[in-house]
Amino acid sequence: MLTSICGINWGDEGKGKMVDFLSADYDIVCRYQGGNNAGHTVINERGKFILNLLPSGILRENIVNVLGMGMVVDIKHLSEEMARLREKGVKITPANLKISDRAEITMPYHVLLDCLEEDRLAGKKFGSTRRGIAPVYADRFMKKGFRMGELLHPEALYARAKEIVEWKNLTIAGGYGHAPVTVDEMIAYFKQYGEPLREYICDTGLYLNEAHKAGKRIMFEAQLGALRDIDYGIWPYTSSSLTIAAYAPIGAGVPNLKLDKSVGIMKAYSTCVGEGPFVSEYFGEKAEKLRAAGGEYGAATGRPRRVGPFDVVASSYGVRCQGADEIALTKLDILSIYDEIEVCTAYELDGKRIREFPFPDLLEKCKPVYEKVKGWHTDISQCRKKADLPKEALDYIAFIEQACNCKIKYVAVGPARDAVICL
Ligand code: GDP
Repeated sequence: MLTSICGINWGDEGKGKMVDFLSADYDIVCRYQGGNNAGHTVINERGKFILNLLPSGILRENIVNVLGMGMVVDIKHLSEEMARLREKGVKITPANLKISDRAEITMPYHVLLDCLEEDRLAGKKFGSTRRGIAPVYADRFMKKGFRMGELLHPEALYARAKEIVEWKNLTIAGGYGHAPVTVDEMIAYFKQYGEPLREYICDTGLYLNEAHKAGKRIMFEAQLGALRDIDYGIWPYTSSSLTIAAYAPIGAGVPNLKLDKSVGIMKAYSTCVGEGPFVSEYFGEKAEKLRAAGGEYGAATGRPRRVGPFDVVASSYGVRCQGADEIALTKLDILSIYDEIEVCTAYELDGKRIREFPFPDLLEKCKPVYEKVKGWHTDISQCRKKADLPKEALDYIAFIEQACNCKIKYVAVGPARDAVICL
């Protein structure tokens, strides 16, 4: 059984919580793209956890967690994340964490280059999380990066480090005028943060294939949402990896296997961190009210998120890109603040109404068309069954299902593990 859990919108849909909830039925949870540029928040009986690199399954004892080959791994960040979790009593051993030998290593100079470029762009910045993600993926495609598996062969790795550092300094020192990085620093970095991870590194594609043959249930956990996918998203305001479900078997290392199910995580309203077009965005007091109610501040960066009502145009596109068979609608409880709930059901582009998500460049010219739906204006955070939900909440769910042509199977009404209603 292979299931992908992916984001339908701009990210921060509450995937961490839903993976944590759904993972109870799986043996393996695997991340397949991205790095430590997003944060998944999981709240369970042991406390609140923010996970940047580790799959959310790390919080359940019987689950094996995999960092797949499509990922970029900041080894310092990973070491610190593992240490933080261990302090809270989470057990992490090579038995429950496996890191692909083909995953890329995010180096300190990738983070440096990300910051230098964002600073150079100043007012015109892309809203990078400054965690080196675009530079490390760029080097991966230049074939001038380092793979996790190279940590197992240090002699060859250190020799190659010399060549790569020379090449990188052409940009760091020659281009940006920053102090050059040194080979010794890089080797010290590999030794301090890479070598302790060696026992976790293996051919995770082989591991997953064998686990699948043995009947293990595998869940692929995406980071960010469809609209941040490098190819399908609001380019260039996207991440640098493929966030879509179809990429999951490839990024996980099992391109020979087919997904059985794609579960899309969709938020009951819209949020977007960072730059880029966001048609249904609220401003001023309206935005403040929704942001405060939803606690919308980035898990990885602490940045206030841009907020707005549910966007049918963008979300239907997200449902299509993710091939979502089922949807989990999260944070429905936040909409309890409204008597009437606005929904963006179309865009106006050059005087015409459109319902299909346009080419990204055109988004800047699109204006939102809002419709109003009756609210329930009562606390639903304690509801645990469909029958507990007010009629207006069920009507809102049905409205979205119909508008986005999708099946909403789960509704989340609070941050806690059990605050989920199965419809
Ligand atoms: P992710 O990156 O997609 O996992 O999303 P984030 O972790 O950035 O954001 C989700 C935030 O919303 C976290 O603080 C969760 O604890 C919280 N959360 C998730 N689902 C719900 C829900 O249904 N209701 C409420 N009130 N909070 C939720």
